Amino acid sequence: MKLALIGVGQAGGTVADALIDYDRRTGTGFVADAIAVNSARSDLRELRHVPASRQVLVGLPHVMGHGAGADIELGADIVAEDICDVLVMVDDLPIHEIDAFLVVAGLGGGTGSGGAPVIARELSRSYAKPVYGLGLLPARDEGGIYVINAAQSLQTFVHEVDNLILFDNENWRRSGDAAYEMPNAELARRLGVLFGADGTDANADLTIETSEIISTLATGGISTVGYVSVEHDRPERGLLSRLVGRRTDSDDTPHSTNRLANLVRRAALGRLTLPCQIADIERGLVIVAGPPDVLTRRGLERGRAWVEDETGSREIRGGDYPVESNYVAAVVLFSGVYDVPRVKELQAVAIEAQREMFATPESNVEPLENLVETDADQLKPLF
Ligand code: GDP
Repeated sequence: MKLALIGVGQAGGTVADALIDYDRRTGTGFVADAIAVNSARSDLRELRHVPASRQVLVGLPHVMGHGAGADIELGADIVAEDICDVLVMVDDLPIHEIDAFLVVAGLGGGTGSGGAPVIARELSRSYAKPVYGLGLLPARDEGGIYVINAAQSLQTFVHEVDNLILFDNENWRRSGDAAYEMPNAELARRLGVLFGADGTDANADLTIETSEIISTLATGGISTVGYVSVEHDRPERGLLSRLVGRRTDSDDTPHSTNRLANLVRRAALGRLTLPCQIADIERGLVIVAGPPDVLTRRGLERGRAWVEDETGSREIRGGDYPVESNYVAAVVLFSGVYDVPRVKELQAVAIEAQREMFATPESNVEPLENLVETDADQLKPLF
């Protein structure tokens, strides 16, 4: 599936850069084009894969190219004021080649956390393509203002996108890490397999269609992604180019079936981009990637059936992604997740820090609202 990436703020631009880097190195082809939007000139200059011709500097009269700091309201205002510049750049993208937009932002900062929901709203109004969000949650040690911003941005952003995929830095960033290279590379791998899996090849009947990815994400609300990969004993070239190979039913031995099904289990029970209870999700997608002869029909089906049992959802799709590789990987997308202690924790910390500052939101629609909204006298959405 082809995505147009809109990276907003420093983290948004950096993660968009990492996704493009993965896409080019592996020849996956899921990034059709990308734009970076920021109020800090120096952050834009750091980008290696989003060229200057695809960058929009917003808020120049207000922040003189120095960024919005961690001021989420300023971030939202300056992006809203310069939204025409963003949309002119989007109009320049090859829209007919694009299946969806992916608006990427760190939710703890200012420009991305405030600006991403503004951009998502405008994209939804202007284009008949799904608009997905990729939100990066701050780690616990980042401090109150980041948590407040994230909680506030989250409850606005989730309503402006068709689905919000969350990535929790708390789970991925080791203390003392100065940069986000490892978490960003991990995220790129997961999304690369997820969004790169559709296409045609020798195993066409098992191949994921773009429409299946879109249907899985059509729950709205919040999603999380699990992943695991293991080295395959036959030496090849890494999880690289798509391979046109042929699997035969004789490859479906009990051993290969169990191995693949176990991989799916490990992806679902291992580290998710956002930790959550998987017993209560709306939809799921299981993808197994690797050399075609390893991707057995029975193994995939057993893994998919296990996810169905574990989640209680009757809408678990599954497919394979044959690639020339010396690794076998499984990706599991859980869409429409509601039991997320981490989001509740984030909100509780934010509410505590900001108890006196904001007026009362009223709505409380089940069940997404139970997750992203907060009770009376707590956090107000951005808009
Ligand atoms: P902005 O430029 O004002 O939008 O602020 P940032 O994009 O720097 O947002 C800061 C938040 O993003 C913090 O909570 C960080 O945890 C997170 N963040 C910053 N850079 C990265 C990155 O490269 N990868 C990830 N995963 N998170 C990041």
